[in-house]
Amino acid sequence: MESDPPGIQPRRARDEDPATAASSSAEIPAPTGLVAQPAEARGRCLWRKGGAAAVSWGAASTVGRRKEMEDAVAVAPAFMALTCERVGGCAAPPGSGEVSHVRFFGVYDGHGGAQVADYCAKRVHEVVAEEWDRIQNPECWKRRWETAFHDGFKRVDNEVIDEAVAPDIIGSTAVVVVISGCQIISSNCGDSRALLCRGNQRIQLTIDHKPDREDELMRIESLGGRVINWQGCRISGVLAVSRSIGDRYMRPWVIPVPEISFMSRSEDDDCLILASDGLWDVMSIEEVGDMACRHFRWQRRNGLVDGVSPAQAVADHLTELAYQKNSSDNISVVVVDLKSRSRRRPRQ
Ligand SMILES: [Zn+2]
Repeated sequence: MESDPPGIQPRRARDEDPATAASSSAEIPAPTGLVAQPAEARGRCLWRKGGAAAVSWGAASTVGRRKEMEDAVAVAPAFMALTCERVGGCAAPPGSGEVSHVRFFGVYDGHGGAQVADYCAKRVHEVVAEEWDRIQNPECWKRRWETAFHDGFKRVDNEVIDEAVAPDIIGSTAVVVVISGCQIISSNCGDSRALLCRGNQRIQLTIDHKPDREDELMRIESLGGRVINWQGCRISGVLAVSRSIGDRYMRPWVIPVPEISFMSRSEDDDCLILASDGLWDVMSIEEVGDMACRHFRWQRRNGLVDGVSPAQAVADHLTELAYQKNSSDNISVVVVDLKSRSRRRPRQ
């Protein structure tokens, strides 16, 4: 029995800018990458299938048991307006696409202060879009996105110093997902995570950058860094992530270099969840995915509660649940409902 109605009032994402704030609905298409899998040949663009690519979303953030709120969330529904074909990885035959919105979702988990995370929430989507536009005649669409994310993260990292956004002992993780008609493109720096729920599958789209991850440990040690276990593995006994934006005092070991993954969208995709480690520290990928899917099913049976969209209700619920499970950190969750609105309608 799924009897748990949504019952939470965590704080909403702090960014009140309508271009980047939480919660609303729209349509979309999009995905491929790192953890991800081969694209399926469907021959049809999800965007073209009468709204099968529609998405809605919700976001929730709470300071939790911390004194300061250092997480930030960005939702940019109008990130880009492109044909699915131009985004790349479209399953439809060339020339058949219409222009549609490409959406952008990001969660940034700051440490040492909120400045870098807040700055990322304002800037990363703008800068990545500019870098993507700047690339002429890309050798392939994936390469274009990889370059846009690499250069975009590097540029934001430079801006943090050049524009005196924050001292060099402050930094932020970044997990970002771009959704088009046929693709889900994820970019990650640090230990915030993106999870895709596809039917019964729970697919982690990003791999955490922790100092004890084998390849990260080798990279850090080859540069003369030391990883010390001090309440978890930390670089120089201090920083518990091996990649981030900011944190200049930890160069060359800590780098603002993202890993990118690409995933072709499937009609079986249920939802996407981005969150800071305030959620992942107390809930596994399976727990989060199962809870989200159960909640969506409950919503489908019972309809909207107080006019709150299912995605918002799930974001609220996961945030509250992590708090109840004694998360000691800030908690930020973005939920993207990947089912079309028509399929999400409550049964009569
Ligand atoms: Zn497409």
